[in-house]
Amino acid sequence: MDCLPSSSDKKALKSWFFIDKRVGCATRLDPMDLKSSHTSPVLTDPPPMNKAILGVHSSLLPYSSPRAAFSPCLLLTIPRKKTGILDDVRSSGWLDAMKSSSPPPMKITKAVNNEYASYDADVVYNAWKVKYPSAIASFEEITNHAKGKRIALFLDYDGTLSPIVDNPDCAFMSDAMRAVVKMVAKYFPTAIISGRSRDKVYEFVGLTELYYAGSHGMDIMGPVRQSISDDHTNCVRSVDEQGKEVNLFQPAGEFLPMINEVLRSLVERTKDIIGVNVENNKFCVSVHYRNVDEKHWTTVAQRVHDVLKDYPCLQLTHGRKVLEVRPMINWDKGKAVTFLLESLGLSNCDDVLPIYVGDDQTDEDAFKVVTEGHRGYGILVSSVPKKSNAVYSVKDPSEVMEFLKSLVTWKKSSAL
Ligand SMILES: [Mg+2]
Repeated sequence: MDCLPSSSDKKALKSWFFIDKRVGCATRLDPMDLKSSHTSPVLTDPPPMNKAILGVHSSLLPYSSPRAAFSPCLLLTIPRKKTGILDDVRSSGWLDAMKSSSPPPMKITKAVNNEYASYDADVVYNAWKVKYPSAIASFEEITNHAKGKRIALFLDYDGTLSPIVDNPDCAFMSDAMRAVVKMVAKYFPTAIISGRSRDKVYEFVGLTELYYAGSHGMDIMGPVRQSISDDHTNCVRSVDEQGKEVNLFQPAGEFLPMINEVLRSLVERTKDIIGVNVENNKFCVSVHYRNVDEKHWTTVAQRVHDVLKDYPCLQLTHGRKVLEVRPMINWDKGKAVTFLLESLGLSNCDDVLPIYVGDDQTDEDAFKVVTEGHRGYGILVSSVPKKSNAVYSVKDPSEVMEFLKSLVTWKKSSAL
């Protein structure tokens, strides 16, 4: 798979930016303008893009649109709506998404409201659990399906192996969790797929037995497999921390200078907002607002929005109290799972059962991939009802640990 822009594509991309800078916002192409009446170029759902313009391989760009949409002529003829400052973030739904990105645990509702509210919350939660049953209560069902199959495990990090904490630099996993993950990796091929940079998530986990994918799967260090290197031009041979030969796949490598530029701008533009934490995750940037007073969330959204207006090749997604900026390529955690299964020689095998455990919106792509054709299972980590592509659920990281322990026990006993 060729992920690199050809020289003609690079020229097209450069000319796009050139036109953009010359004409300014009033006439610049805004993919959202092509799609709807919204005015922000930064989307929660990626806009249609033309692969020839971006110069990225077609498999990385599903958002096909008529070529005319990116014609340089059109760039100069599409009027951009003038809006009030706050309209930008309000009309794009950013604020709603920010407010709903991390709903309070149900226990809080119970604590502050009367017994009727508590009863309602229980009814809603229990009704939700019918649709997303507990992976622990359903363990026998899962292992019945796993009999004679090879399980491959994919784990998110934040909110899955570690608790969500106020300071993202302190999202440490417990020693007990580390021991269980180490044990599980002894019996099943196991990979961590995180939005963090690969280096940072490796620092947190510290286990050499695993495979790591950082930056939402845009930075994967996996086992050496020649067919993978042949198919992916952005996949190169490298060595890991132990000097072992590995495949390093970075499908968004071309975006690195742009991401670094945006990182600097975001740090600069948000430095006066108390509580904002801008995190460098290599191929993406996370703007955490967990510690920002809610009355300033609009300001956070507006500042991020203002920076991203100049980068139509970047998109924004919402995590749990975090705005995540990343390249607009067709690559996500689901694609990372597929890539790792191929790297492990486990794709297109009827006897492989992939399991993905995660808590965030960005994990939904991976849930979709593993549950495709009832191949495997997605397990959502959530203490509140939410819609998901997952099949099962667990409440929190402590239940993730319990589930992983059960897998180890089951594997040991079935090997006897
Ligand atoms: Mg997470």
